[in-house]
Amino acid sequence: VAGVTECVFCRIIGRELPAKVVSSSPAAVAFLDVAPLAPGHLLVVPREHARHLHELPAAGLSGLAAELPKLAAALLQVTGADGYNLLQNNGAAAGQVVEHVHFHMIPRRPGDGLGFRWPAKQYRAGESEEILERFKLALAG
Ligand SMILES: [Zn+2]
Repeated sequence: VAGVTECVFCRIIGRELPAKVVSSSPAAVAFLDVAPLAPGHLLVVPREHARHLHELPAAGLSGLAAELPKLAAALLQVTGADGYNLLQNNGAAAGQVVEHVHFHMIPRRPGDGLGFRWPAKQYRAGESEEILERFKLALAG
């Protein structure tokens, strides 16, 4: 039946499931994550269902993106945090659990214990040039 979905975020958007919704616009809905990394941790989701960012039409993404600055300003005001991470996972390998595009907005403070891993690598000789050419071909299509 059209409109029936197992997607938990679509059901929140459709008000079939309860959520602490902090913001709702034609493009996006923002609500409190039920399992926050810190109080005030938000999830920002496009109304349009797409599993991954690369499957979301650009118009849906731009509408969502337009909401982010005011949501971030509110998050800083409400939580008193010193900063925030905007995190967007695509695919199980990247840690995505709910298969509806979502952005985590996570309040951060020095010493909050959440950590930050950024184990940067180095390209071998010629590798970055080769990858650059492959990107140019992929984006030319
Ligand atoms: Zn959905």
